[in-house]
Amino acid sequence: MPTKKDKEREKKEEEAKKAGPKKAEEPKVAAAEAPKEAVEEKKAEEKKPAKVEKVRGPKKKKQEKGAHALYKIEGDKVTRVHPTCERCGIGYFMAEHHDRFTCGHCGFTRYKAR
Ligand SMILES: [Zn+2]
Repeated sequence: MPTKKDKEREKKEEEAKKAGPKKAEEPKVAAAEAPKEAVEEKKAEEKKPAKVEKVRGPKKKKQEKGAHALYKIEGDKVTRVHPTCERCGIGYFMAEHHDRFTCGHCGFTRYKAR
Protein backbone atom coordinates (compact mmCIF):
# COMPACT_ATOMS: atom_id res chain seq x y z
CA MET A 1 0.00 0.00 0.00
CA PRO A 2 1.46 3.34 -1.00
CA THR A 3 1.27 5.87 1.78
CA LYS A 4 0.36 9.52 1.42
CA LYS A 5 4.02 10.47 1.57
CA ASP A 6 4.83 8.13 -1.30
CA LYS A 7 2.15 9.75 -3.45
CA GLU A 8 3.42 13.19 -2.59
CA ARG A 9 6.92 12.14 -3.51
CA GLU A 10 5.72 10.77 -6.84
CA LYS A 11 3.98 14.03 -7.59
CA LYS A 12 7.09 16.01 -6.77
CA GLU A 13 9.14 13.82 -9.06
CA GLU A 14 6.63 14.33 -11.82
CA GLU A 15 6.78 18.06 -11.39
CA ALA A 16 10.54 17.94 -11.46
CA LYS A 17 10.38 16.02 -14.72
CA LYS A 18 8.02 18.62 -16.18
CA ALA A 19 10.34 21.42 -15.15
CA GLY A 20 13.22 19.70 -16.91
CA PRO A 21 14.13 21.19 -20.27
CA LYS A 22 14.53 17.87 -22.06
CA LYS A 23 11.23 16.25 -21.23
CA ALA A 24 8.74 18.77 -22.57
CA GLU A 25 6.66 16.09 -24.30
CA GLU A 26 7.23 13.31 -21.78
CA PRO A 27 4.29 13.91 -19.41
CA LYS A 28 1.71 12.86 -22.02
CA VAL A 29 3.51 9.57 -22.63
CA ALA A 30 3.85 8.97 -18.90
CA ALA A 31 0.14 9.61 -18.42
CA ALA A 32 -0.72 7.08 -21.11
CA GLU A 33 1.46 4.47 -19.47
CA ALA A 34 0.20 5.07 -15.95
CA PRO A 35 -3.53 5.90 -15.94
CA LYS A 36 -3.68 6.02 -12.13
CA GLU A 37 -1.35 8.98 -12.01
CA ALA A 38 -3.35 10.70 -14.72
CA VAL A 39 -6.49 10.40 -12.60
CA GLU A 40 -4.64 11.89 -9.65
CA GLU A 41 -3.52 14.77 -11.81
CA LYS A 42 -7.10 15.42 -12.92
CA LYS A 43 -8.27 15.53 -9.32
CA ALA A 44 -5.53 17.99 -8.48
CA GLU A 45 -6.56 20.17 -11.40
CA GLU A 46 -10.18 20.14 -10.28
CA LYS A 47 -9.20 21.30 -6.82
CA LYS A 48 -7.03 24.11 -8.11
CA PRO A 49 -8.50 25.51 -11.33
CA ALA A 50 -6.55 28.75 -10.99
CA LYS A 51 -3.25 26.91 -11.46
CA VAL A 52 -1.86 27.83 -14.84
CA GLU A 53 1.24 26.06 -16.05
CA LYS A 54 3.86 28.31 -17.46
CA VAL A 55 5.13 27.32 -20.85
CA ARG A 56 8.86 27.59 -20.83
CA GLY A 57 11.00 27.46 -23.87
CA PRO A 58 14.23 25.49 -23.91
CA LYS A 59 16.79 26.94 -21.54
CA LYS A 60 19.55 28.86 -23.17
CA LYS A 61 22.98 27.69 -22.19
CA LYS A 62 25.29 30.45 -21.14
CA GLN A 63 28.43 30.13 -23.14
CA GLU A 64 31.51 30.16 -20.96
CA LYS A 65 34.09 32.55 -22.17
CA GLY A 66 37.19 31.06 -20.58
CA ALA A 67 40.39 32.76 -19.52
CA HIS A 68 41.35 33.78 -23.03
CA ALA A 69 38.51 36.33 -23.00
CA LEU A 70 40.45 38.35 -20.41
CA TYR A 71 43.44 38.92 -22.69
CA LYS A 72 43.89 40.71 -25.97
CA ILE A 73 46.82 40.35 -28.29
CA GLU A 74 47.81 43.51 -30.12
CA GLY A 75 50.76 42.89 -32.34
CA ASP A 76 53.43 41.37 -30.12
CA LYS A 77 52.01 42.65 -26.86
CA VAL A 78 49.42 41.09 -24.60
CA THR A 79 47.00 43.47 -22.94
CA ARG A 80 44.62 42.62 -20.14
CA VAL A 81 41.00 43.51 -20.74
CA HIS A 82 39.93 43.69 -17.10
CA PRO A 83 41.66 45.67 -14.37
CA THR A 84 43.55 43.75 -11.68
CA CYS A 85 42.59 43.86 -8.03
CA GLU A 86 44.42 46.43 -5.96
CA ARG A 87 44.28 44.29 -2.85
CA CYS A 88 45.09 40.90 -4.30
CA GLY A 89 47.61 42.11 -6.82
CA ILE A 90 48.55 40.92 -10.27
CA GLY A 91 46.75 37.83 -11.45
CA TYR A 92 43.42 38.68 -9.91
CA PHE A 93 41.14 40.23 -12.47
CA MET A 94 38.09 42.20 -11.48
CA ALA A 95 34.70 41.50 -12.92
CA GLU A 96 33.07 44.31 -14.86
CA HIS A 97 29.55 45.35 -13.97
CA HIS A 98 27.56 48.20 -15.43
CA ASP A 99 28.64 50.62 -12.72
CA ARG A 100 31.56 48.99 -10.95
CA PHE A 101 34.42 46.49 -10.96
CA THR A 102 34.52 43.81 -8.30
CA CYS A 103 37.10 41.29 -7.20
CA GLY A 104 35.74 37.78 -6.84
CA HIS A 105 38.62 36.82 -4.60
CA CYS A 106 38.38 39.40 -1.82
CA GLY A 107 35.21 41.32 -2.65
CA PHE A 108 36.95 44.61 -3.34
CA THR A 109 34.73 46.97 -5.31
CA ARG A 110 35.73 49.97 -7.34
CA TYR A 111 33.01 52.13 -8.79
CA LYS A 112 33.36 53.51 -12.26
CA ALA A 113 33.86 57.24 -12.53
CA ARG A 114 30.86 58.97 -14.03
ZN1 LIG B 1 40.84 41.08 -4.55
